Amino acid sequence: MGGVLQHRFRLAARQGYRNTDLLPRRDRRASTLARAMDRFPLTRAAALERLERFVPKAAGAYAARRNLVDPQGDHRNVSRLSATLRRRLIGEDEVVRTVLAAHRFDKCEKFVAEVFWRTYWKGWLEQRPQLWTSYLAECESLPVTPQVHAAMDGRTGIDAFDHWARELTETGYLHNWARMQVASIWIFTLGLPWQLGAQWFLDRLIDADPASNTLSWRWVAGLHTAGKTYLADADRIAAMTGGRFRPAGLAESAAVPEASPMPGRTPLPATQEIDPSQPTMVLITPEDCSLETVLPQLDVRAVAVADGMARNGWDRTALGDAAARASGHWQCPAAAGDIVALALRHDCKQIVTGLAPAGPVASELAALRKRLGERGVRLVEHQRDWDRQCWPHCGKGFFNLKSQIPGLLRSLDLLVKTAPNRTGESLGKDCYTM
Ligand SMILES: Cc1cc2nc3c(=O)[nH]c(=O)nc-3n(C[C@H](O)[C@H](O)[C@H](O)COP(=O)(O)OP(=O)(O)OC[C@H]3O[C@@H](n4cnc5c(N)ncnc54)[C@H](O)[C@@H]3O)c2cc1C
Repeated sequence: MGGVLQHRFRLAARQGYRNTDLLPRRDRRASTLARAMDRFPLTRAAALERLERFVPKAAGAYAARRNLVDPQGDHRNVSRLSATLRRRLIGEDEVVRTVLAAHRFDKCEKFVAEVFWRTYWKGWLEQRPQLWTSYLAECESLPVTPQVHAAMDGRTGIDAFDHWARELTETGYLHNWARMQVASIWIFTLGLPWQLGAQWFLDRLIDADPASNTLSWRWVAGLHTAGKTYLADADRIAAMTGGRFRPAGLAESAAVPEASPMPGRTPLPATQEIDPSQPTMVLITPEDCSLETVLPQLDVRAVAVADGMARNGWDRTALGDAAARASGHWQCPAAAGDIVALALRHDCKQIVTGLAPAGPVASELAALRKRLGERGVRLVEHQRDWDRQCWPHCGKGFFNLKSQIPGLLRSLDLLVKTAPNRTGESLGKDCYTM
């Protein structure tokens, strides 16, 4: 492994995932961004349109076909909403509400539960943020060997793995079931460190997310649910890919990698109060790109765009879309640049932004809070009701949260009570019996 590449990889790890430019140039295709944006919406309007088109499939079709992986990369059995949900161009509540307006809960329960998986990982990591920092440190200390490089390039000789490695590079997306196989083969067949696999995904995924990614890799490795590993299996891969792949030589057993002891739980972040009487600047980061749909009535004088927190063109597209909407909503200018200077220029004593869970944006906000404090400006991170109500149930296993879903849907007011659904079927009382 060349020293330069090793250095780039370490730098990328140190920064969380700030800069995909750190990846080898020949791996990047100029058209990747444009093609991926077409298939994975990155504006709110495109996301709402995708959701609308996906809704009819969110019940029986999703339950039956969601794990089938099309080798041609046609992933229409799943919503492909993750890049927008991850940046909150639309909220989890909006997705769930729209789906429940069209289907009884018992019919679309599988899809709703998947949306809650994202919530689960975020809420879980938020209670053990040390895992994120120790993962970054481990990435830095691990050597990026030629074997790691061959795997990232799709040159292992394992057909399914190589195909998906190339798909990831070319599109920025992998189907969930393919992600599970790739992670499992990386860890158990190729014997590579899970941390470098997670770093690879984080650098390339259009929906790259510290919680879902790091914890999913740990889950596959058997580090999340003690001793429960996920072992890829050639027959299952053949079944899910319509017989296209049946890789030989996959590991037949899975030894859980060594890991430091699980850190104890830390309390969830306390609610930060917004002062509605203060002249306010709204700050848009890649963690929440539809603040105008959730913030209370405020005296907003300006919108700032945290373009320095964008790690790639996908983030920048989402931020640009969010800025245009926010500026229109609050009828005020939107600008990028030095955030402290922008706040002072607009005489704002308060900056309101979306709560950033463990990850690079949270670290940047912590540094910004300090700089703002020195100039007498308060930074308030607004926590969405969804997170506030769901995260307390995310400290243990997913099934603990899952059992709370019906109650959470009720308390988040997501069950549509009277409207007939799209097939004309009235949503009777029974649809609340979950
Ligand atoms: C090793 C590995 C790494 C992953 N890394 C990421 C990541 O960096 N970012 C990311 O957003 N997801 C990650 N996932 C989760 C999942 O693969 C993607 O969210 C999903 O494939 C997105 O496609 P979709 O929107 O079509 O999903 P759908 O099947 O349509 O599901 C709807 C929504 O539910 C949520 N969801 C579905 N499955 C999961 C899941 N297993 N975990 C968490 N949320 C889920 C997503 O928000 C998704 O958009 C990872 C999974 C694995 C196994």
